[in-house]
Amino acid sequence: MFQDITTLLLDHKAFKDTVDIFVDRYRDMGISVVAGIEARGFVFGPSIALAIGAKFVPLRKPNKLPGEVISEAYVLEYGTDRLEMHVGAIEPGERALVIDDLVATGGTLSAAVRLLERMGAEVVECACVVGLPEGQRRLDGKPLYILVEPR
Ligand code: IMP
Repeated sequence: MFQDITTLLLDHKAFKDTVDIFVDRYRDMGISVVAGIEARGFVFGPSIALAIGAKFVPLRKPNKLPGEVISEAYVLEYGTDRLEMHVGAIEPGERALVIDDLVATGGTLSAAVRLLERMGAEVVECACVVGLPEGQRRLDGKPLYILVEPR
């Protein structure tokens, strides 16, 4: 069943409370980069970045970013896909948060972590609004913060 976050966005209080939970968690963690995964990571990431004083870096589907990119492939249920990030968006040593709407297998988040680490960033945590109850998530030991786990 597809978990849809667009109804959450229709409720100002619920939307604000969701962003505020992330902001309260990450504001004092020395995070200078919020990296959002296309497309629904773009819904939450910029608000969090602005509130904690970080920059927002979009991690996009292939061939969307205009500049020079680095790219990471990941496995889907049927086939593979790629995430891309602009070269130069992140300085080595920066502390990063990765945000998306939902995690299932963790394959997408893992690709995001690899991209950031290839640029020398330290990924402090990955965060999602929804976490599906998958048995094994491929997050390579990175901390994962989830607000809602549907049964
Ligand atoms: P994973 O790589 O298996 O963890 O899948 C997570 C990615 O697929 C995220 O970018 C999600 O936005 C997307 N996704 C998978 N299932 C759903 C769903 O039920 N609702 C919304 N997004 C989903």
